[in-house]
Amino acid sequence: MFDHVTLGQRILFGTGAAADNAVAAVEELGARRILLVHDAFAIALADAIAERAPVVRRIDEIVQHVPVENAERATAAAVAADIDAIVTIGGGSATGLAKAVALRTGVPIVAIPTTFAGSEATDVWGMTEGQRKTTGVDPRVLPKVVVYDAALSVGLPATLAVASGLNAVAHAVDGFWAPRADPINRALGTEGLRALFPGLRGLIADPGDLDAREQTLYGAYLAAVAFASAGSGLHHKICHALGGAFNLPHAETHAIVLPYVTAFNAPFAPDAAERVQELLGVQNAAAGLNALRAELGAPASLATIGLKESDIRRAAELALPAVPPSNPRPVTVSDLEGILRAAWVGEQIV
Ligand code: NAD
Repeated sequence: MFDHVTLGQRILFGTGAAADNAVAAVEELGARRILLVHDAFAIALADAIAERAPVVRRIDEIVQHVPVENAERATAAAVAADIDAIVTIGGGSATGLAKAVALRTGVPIVAIPTTFAGSEATDVWGMTEGQRKTTGVDPRVLPKVVVYDAALSVGLPATLAVASGLNAVAHAVDGFWAPRADPINRALGTEGLRALFPGLRGLIADPGDLDAREQTLYGAYLAAVAFASAGSGLHHKICHALGGAFNLPHAETHAIVLPYVTAFNAPFAPDAAERVQELLGVQNAAAGLNALRAELGAPASLATIGLKESDIRRAAELALPAVPPSNPRPVTVSDLEGILRAAWVGEQIV
């Protein structure tokens, strides 16, 4: 027995077609006063859209993990400009700022993602205040339309492409044991991984391979849809604690932590482990994910991305209250410390 929800969105998928598709999407929404939120690198596409659509305000100050002050400033600007739609171009941070504005104004979002983070496919918002990251779920923040264009990720440095692709892998894998995991979101996550594994290998082998980028983008979308439906599992709760309190880079944190959470949960979640093993062609899901991380050249340990050893205990304590009671394996603070310590060292998984 299960009770499944898949969120409704229009998906426009076309390489080289971002400007045309975004303009068509805002026309169909009937938007007359658009707020354009864009990452600084996306200025050419932002200009192309602003030439053809009624943009009344632009914001290009994008900060990772959406500090509350930035969200408040952007919302005040949106209200003052009386906007009726938001177009966002960029990674999860740009989408996150647009979501913060939509949360308070209820204005629809057209999202044009440039990484594989997948925020565009979820109704989850996140903001950071002081050292604490808060997330929530609200239907108003789910973009109405997503415009996917594989060519937009070509300029994404390989390290960021890999890390955000592994973040997408984490959406699928963590979704397998998340609180609302069900056969439908597991199927979506599995198909996401089937596209992500070869897609990521392909784009690292040849950064100009647009087919591999399309495959990765498609897989990232499916994984994010699965995550939005299944909810945050143990892995995401640990990563949110790390991102909020220690300001670690989001995607890299996911890339490093996932194999260790998988090593912890896999004996209690054999179906999830088998799905990963089958798709990677390995005997041990955690070891396979860690080998993939290494093969793609993602960072190997939390120590290398700035977590101090003395912060491990506090990170474990911060994550503990958020651990889903439905996690397949019971979790204590010392279990979390063990997972974090292994990820901090970059311990080998066999
Ligand atoms: P990001 O948006 O922070 O981007 C990382 C860096 O890459 C930035 O410097 C950005 O300017 C640059 N960049 C992005 N796309 C580029 C491109 N195509 N070419 C050149 N440079 C480019 O990173 P991210 O991993 O996409 O997103 C991370 C944020 O998204 C975190 O705050 C995370 O919490 C959030 N997120 C939210 C959800 C959700 O469901 N709400 C899901 C995933 C991630």
